[in-house]
Amino acid sequence: MKPEESAAGLIVERLNLEPPVDVQALLKTAADIQILDWDYDVDGLVVGLTSARPKVFVRRNADRRRQRFTMAHELGHIVLGWHTGAIPCHTSRVPRWLVQGHEAEASRFASAILVPDRFLSRIRSTPDVGGWLTDLAKADVSAFAGAMALVRGLPPGYMFVVEMPYGPEVVSSDGTSIRLGWVDGQPDYRALERSSADHAIVGHQNRRVRWYRFVEDELLPEVDADPRTTAELLQHAADRCGTTPAVVNGVIGYAANMVAGADEGTLFQTMLFRIKLRGDLQALLDDPDFRCFLARRARELAARRLGNG
Ligand SMILES: [Zn+2]
Repeated sequence: MKPEESAAGLIVERLNLEPPVDVQALLKTAADIQILDWDYDVDGLVVGLTSARPKVFVRRNADRRRQRFTMAHELGHIVLGWHTGAIPCHTSRVPRWLVQGHEAEASRFASAILVPDRFLSRIRSTPDVGGWLTDLAKADVSAFAGAMALVRGLPPGYMFVVEMPYGPEVVSSDGTSIRLGWVDGQPDYRALERSSADHAIVGHQNRRVRWYRFVEDELLPEVDADPRTTAELLQHAADRCGTTPAVVNGVIGYAANMVAGADEGTLFQTMLFRIKLRGDLQALLDDPDFRCFLARRARELAARRLGNG
């Protein structure tokens, strides 16, 4: 977890924040706020960051959710002690969120305040991705900010496409490695649908949001009674599928790292998903020895986590 997210988490715990978070009241405890109209291309400005009580100027925005996000973002600059001086902010310009540095940190802080981790784990406790979006509405953040929050700590294999007036914004969980392609100047949603296990289009906070789950519904196979060792299972599967144990271990080791600390079912699905992404390893997907090997490996890794914890 990044330091700005831990900082937000501490505040959520201490104040027992539940969505919809009253972010203006929260910001008022730390700064003087003025909401103003201005023509500059800046959504918010914070000055006197090292003073006892900084001043925050927020551009009046007809979009209440954007204004809420800007306030949470400015609070981030105040709370994150290494942000100093005066900072002009562009919180509503999407690419700005993705840049590195203080702007990105303040926006990740804002996301973790408005959509707290514990709220996220509650809404993501069912496999129904459409339901996540329904429950997320309570947090009262824009569709894009909501999608950015939803993928926080989510295993690889999930994508949300928010239809913005200027075009689609794609937000995927880390390690998803599937892109939205274009055909004749149009987004190729068909291709995403074909490779997904489940997908739908929903209305969310006045936007159309397409969600895709690429991870299969596959359950972890039962514990097997095969007398062969785990290494033998892998060797047999690799030989049959024209690859080597080293290649397979490389792919699944990378996948397991992405969901370190997850349960055995999530480990199994994520490792399987990363194999599915590899054109040269498709034969493994239908190999019973490989499934058996992967299930054992998922259980081993999960047990190791419990052992360490
Ligand atoms: Zn900023």
